[in-house]
Amino acid sequence: MQLKMAKVESFTLDHTKVKAPYVRLITEENGGKGDTISNYDLRLVQPNANAIPTAGLHTIEHLLAGLLRDRLAGVIDCSPFGCRTGFHLITWGEHSTTEVAKALKGALEEIATVTKWEDVPGVDVYSCGNYRDHSLFSAKEWAKKILDEGISDDAFNRNVI
Ligand SMILES: [Zn+2]
Repeated sequence: MQLKMAKVESFTLDHTKVKAPYVRLITEENGGKGDTISNYDLRLVQPNANAIPTAGLHTIEHLLAGLLRDRLAGVIDCSPFGCRTGFHLITWGEHSTTEVAKALKGALEEIATVTKWEDVPGVDVYSCGNYRDHSLFSAKEWAKKILDEGISDDAFNRNVI
């Protein structure tokens, strides 16, 4: 017997064909009252070739939470993929992948320059579910590597913004 489950777009993407780092629009969903929600694939490293270690990814997550909201309207959530190669970004409304890539670039540029641990938000026992598992050093080094490679607004063709 085959297990019946909803089809998920992310599992239909050929991960061997993409060229990270990139921003890709996964879906635009329309609600019953006319609102649109967009879901993006923020792929920071190449699938099955690299993965950001958990502590660095966790610190990037905490920093992106505020830095992306400062740069892009309607951010609902930005959460890491289980494979640790990037993040889902969910927003109200529609944004071009170029617009999202520019916001991501600006946010990573800021992460690369953070010098004080106190500037990372929500990293105490009260505001984080695993506050011991963070690394600002790792977050900054991965941010620099991603910026050096350049962020494309197209998953399959390098079109660095
Ligand atoms: Zn946390």
